[in-house]
This record gives sequence, C-alpha cells and structure tokens, in this order.
Amino acid sequence: MAEGLLLDIDGVIVTSWEPLPGAVEALESITESGIPRMFLTNTTSKSRNEIAQTLIRGGFDVEAREILTAAVLTAEYLRSRHEGKRVVVLNEGPISEDMDGINVVSDDPEVLVFGGAGPSFTHELLSQALAWMIDGVPAISMHRSMSWSTASGPKIDTGIYLEGLQKATGKKIPAIGKPSPLGFRHAVEMLGVGDPGEVIMVGDDIHGDVLGAQKAAMIGVLVRTGKFRPEQLDALNADEFGQVPDHVIDSIADLPALLEKL
Ligand SMILES: [Mg+2]
Repeated sequence: MAEGLLLDIDGVIVTSWEPLPGAVEALESITESGIPRMFLTNTTSKSRNEIAQTLIRGGFDVEAREILTAAVLTAEYLRSRHEGKRVVVLNEGPISEDMDGINVVSDDPEVLVFGGAGPSFTHELLSQALAWMIDGVPAISMHRSMSWSTASGPKIDTGIYLEGLQKATGKKIPAIGKPSPLGFRHAVEMLGVGDPGEVIMVGDDIHGDVLGAQKAAMIGVLVRTGKFRPEQLDALNADEFGQVPDHVIDSIADLPALLEKL
C-alpha cells in the first residue's frame, strides 16, 4: 500500500457540500486501513475549520487539521520564506483564519499575496498591486485558477489578473495551491511522508489535481465525478506524447479497492 493519501474535496467527496454516493463509506474504510491522509483544496472562501464542520455535518469523520486549504499552505510558505514580514492579502471576503499568525497589514507591504478574486478586485486595487510590484515587492498567489462556475455563469478568478500583472511587470507570481509543485510538496511534507512517489493524489480535475500531482512525482488518480469530462480524458489518451492519469476510477467509492492494489 502507498504511504500517504491526498484527496481533493469538491467533486470527489462532495458536490455543493453534499456527500457523493458512497463517499462517507469509502472514507470510513480508508480510515480503517490506517493510511495517513489529508485533504487538499484551493477553496479560499472557507477556512479549514468551516470546511471540517461542513463535512462533519455531511457525515464524514474528519478533523480540521487534516484539511490543507490554499490559505493554510500559503501561510506555511510565508512562515518558511518571509518570516515576520508585513503582508498585504488581496482576497474577496475576509482573510481566512487559516492565515492566523501572519503579519497582515493594509498598506506598505513587504510581500503581496493574492487570494480568490471577486467584486473587491477593483481597478484601483489592482493598480495599487501593480505599483507595489513595480516597486519590487515580491508577490505570490494562493492559486492561479482562471474562473469558477456558479449558477449564474462563469466568474473571473485571480489567474486572469496574474497573467496581466506578470506581463506588465516582467515578474513571476508563483502560486502555492494546486497544481503548483510548491503546494503538493508542502502537502507531502505535512503528511509526514519522505517520498512523494509513495503518495496518491485523488481528484476530479485532470490538470489541477491529477497531472499536477504526477508532475510533482506523486501517483495520480482521476475520479469520473465532479468536473470530470470524458472528452478531456479522450483527448489526452489520443495524444501519444501526452501525459495521462496513472489511474482512473468511477468514483471515490472505488478508491478502497484500488488502494489495496497500490
Ligand atoms: Mg475538485
């Protein structure tokens, strides 16, 4: 059996925070197997505590410390690379409690952090971010998602702004959350596993979860639930030089049986 397991949340164990069929039972069986596991999500609208409470209400046996949000990983990154520095966080909504302990300020930053975008990402705010970057303030981002879907259609996310800011300043804005190798590496460390090749990542996003993890030397497992689209997998399979998921299963319900074999 592999030494560790990382699971995406949305589209893998829940959709719209409702448990997927068989997910609660699959996680129970995984807990019994004793394999160290954590959850890895790019959600910026809920803290790890709020996510844990929501999952527990859905019947899952989870603890907040098992949930690695992009904000948790970003806070870890700031502690290791920019300890004690003044940090301005641009995020739609309140700054996550997952960033407790970080020296968050509203002006004159030594580090700039982008979270999730929304109506608060105004022309004025983004122009200020541009000015700070031109002045040499290093910038990082919790993730580089381009959009997310809502009942009223797609919404523009942070990644779209990052592309422009990078071009305008000639500077890179590294992202911490999936599919960044930085985030996967931190997550493997937090699992307490030395070799990423012994860690399985399960997700519904072919590129963000599965191939991203495989690029970080982990074992990728794609589920056919959530945002999975068969034509995306077919296109990868048709490209003889392309990378494909290590394993594909119908849903999380099939994960315990796969784990027995790995
Ligand atoms: Mg997902």
